[in-house]
Amino acid sequence: DTEKPAFDRVLLKISGEALMGDQGYGLHPPTVERIAREVKSVHDLGVEICMVIGGGNIFRGLAGAAQGMERTTADYMGMLATVMNALAVQSALEELGVFTRVISAIRMDEVAEPYIRRRAVRHLEKKRVCIFAAGTGNPYFTTDTAATLRANEMACQVIFKGTKVDGVYDKDPAKHPDAKRYDEVTYDECLQKHLGVMDASAIALARDNDLPIIVFSLDEPGGFRGILAGEGTYTRVH
Ligand code: UDP
Repeated sequence: DTEKPAFDRVLLKISGEALMGDQGYGLHPPTVERIAREVKSVHDLGVEICMVIGGGNIFRGLAGAAQGMERTTADYMGMLATVMNALAVQSALEELGVFTRVISAIRMDEVAEPYIRRRAVRHLEKKRVCIFAAGTGNPYFTTDTAATLRANEMACQVIFKGTKVDGVYDKDPAKHPDAKRYDEVTYDECLQKHLGVMDASAIALARDNDLPIIVFSLDEPGGFRGILAGEGTYTRVH
């Protein structure tokens, strides 16, 4: 393979919902496998890959709080949900022969490694995919913020945010056929216009550290590798 990738080290953020397929809840193994293949195809180019996976397919803190649960407890449940998703993706990647580590922001030594920055960097250098689980380890945050935090710590050149649509639109393209996609957009515009790329704290953290975010569609087969090669449609937030 002579294709020269545009990036050496990237972070891929996917929501938990990306793993549930057409089901309304939980994990859909063929979908998890499909995403693992997308990751492998980029890993095969020699790109060092970090991943952060959400937990919304299993549990969201805000939803628990809305049902009367104590917010921080609900958030810890959400973080635990991300660990389950991380293990599922790890299993699918290793099935394809890609070596991985699940690295948890909440200690659970029998299940995952604790987060030690230098150790994680070493894993990347050895071409292991690092799947960062349990978000930031703190309630009141999201996995978008965890993704931005880890991408900065790991010196990733860019965050790839895989979604259901091929970029950032001025309004929800599922509801508005005349919605327009941005080729590029600034962090401040995302914040001011509430463009829903990531939550505000994640965007601010990316902005303050000049970390670009590329929003692309994970539903497009080969999309992840294509975007890395500069093909396909996406939005660059910078
Ligand atoms: N969460 C948290 N702190 C973090 C990351 C996540 O408390 O640093 C909790 C929060 O309750 C959140 C849930 O974990 O709702 C699942 O994460 P998220 O909503 O980001 O998942 P996604 O929407 O990406 O599937």
